[in-house]
Amino acid sequence: MKPSKSLINVSSLLKFEEQFLPVKAEINIESFELGGAKVEVVSPVFFKGLARRLSKGIQVEGHFEVELSLICARCLKKFKLNVSENLKELFTLSENRALLAEGVETYPIEAEKINLTPMIKEQIVLAVPFKALCSEGCRGLCPSCGQDLNLGTCTCQKESVEVKSHPLKRSK
Ligand SMILES: [Zn+2]
Ligand SMILES: [Zn+2]
Repeated sequence: MKPSKSLINVSSLLKFEEQFLPVKAEINIESFELGGAKVEVVSPVFFKGLARRLSKGIQVEGHFEVELSLICARCLKKFKLNVSENLKELFTLSENRALLAEGVETYPIEAEKINLTPMIKEQIVLAVPFKALCSEGCRGLCPSCGQDLNLGTCTCQKESVEVKSHPLKRSK
């Protein structure tokens, strides 16, 4: 297993020796469950950005890319989803956190280091669609026989369509 490079030493920023620090990281995130569905993290997360010293802490701004494998909410097949997102988050020292307005979510600076993993994980969770679909036009499974309607129709689907278009026939 590759060493995790998610811990970034920011002591030069904290001491105001530098104002900016380029950050480039390849981070391994474990697969997780979200709303009962498994989210597989297929690739490492590639992050590139800039850490900046602000009076209230350290702001990390950048871009990340990761490949996920999700289960389609309609046809239940696995499919790949490439996530490519921008982010801008704040890391603070514990003594500064109390000074921030309530509701401002920040990540901790610990032992002059920031850990990118929790921040990235949270951004991946936000990027997963509520009802993930393998494609916009996925036709899903037949609710009665389970046939994958992307691959072909089934007989029960035909019947239900006929019933709909001839409602009087059935009542006789
Ligand atoms: Zn599907
Ligand atoms: Zn069917």
